Amino acid sequence: MAKDVICGMDVEEGKNEVEYNGEKFSFCAPACKAKFEQDPEKYIKK
Ligand SMILES: [Zn+2]
Repeated sequence: MAKDVICGMDVEEGKNEVEYNGEKFSFCAPACKAKFEQDPEKYIKK
């Protein structure tokens, strides 16, 4: 499982997947994916 960093849900790995900075992120829905792509840095907390 992967974590949707937008809404915090557990999602199937590879679902609505985006690669950013060499890391892969999966999202529950295209809407969450789109939100992430608009401002990835905002959602990546290291
Ligand atoms: Zn989501």
